[in-house]
Amino acid sequence: MLAVCPQCEVHFSPEVGICPGCEVYRTPLDSTVEYETIQAESLISSGRSKDELLINLVHKGFSELSADQILSDAGQRVRRTNRRTGSYRMVTGTSLMMAGGLLGAVSMGILTLYGMLAIGFTLFLAGLIQFVTGANLG
Ligand SMILES: [Zn+2]
Repeated sequence: MLAVCPQCEVHFSPEVGICPGCEVYRTPLDSTVEYETIQAESLISSGRSKDELLINLVHKGFSELSADQILSDAGQRVRRTNRRTGSYRMVTGTSLMMAGGLLGAVSMGILTLYGMLAIGFTLFLAGLIQFVTGANLG
């Protein structure tokens, strides 16, 4: 997410904090918080420890309170994303199982078909031998 300077309409990373065009316009804290929350979200989901992220945020000039807020927001978003991924997996799993079941039913049908063909062929063959040889195969 980029910040936009209202004066020169330059798009820039809010992490920079100040417009590189005019060097006057500063990004409002909100967009920086939003930016940091998004950053923290991806860092948390890639397995970074919250303590490490907290220290980083404090180094960037956030108070410990707002750093904490950013991290708990980010944590909530990660959980929400994970839940969404989980539900997608459940849906995919369910449809795979249904497809598998359907395929199983179809292949059972094929087996029945082959079975009937095999029995039919055996009967036909026996009949043919009986016809040709005139023997009673019983
Ligand atoms: Zn500017």
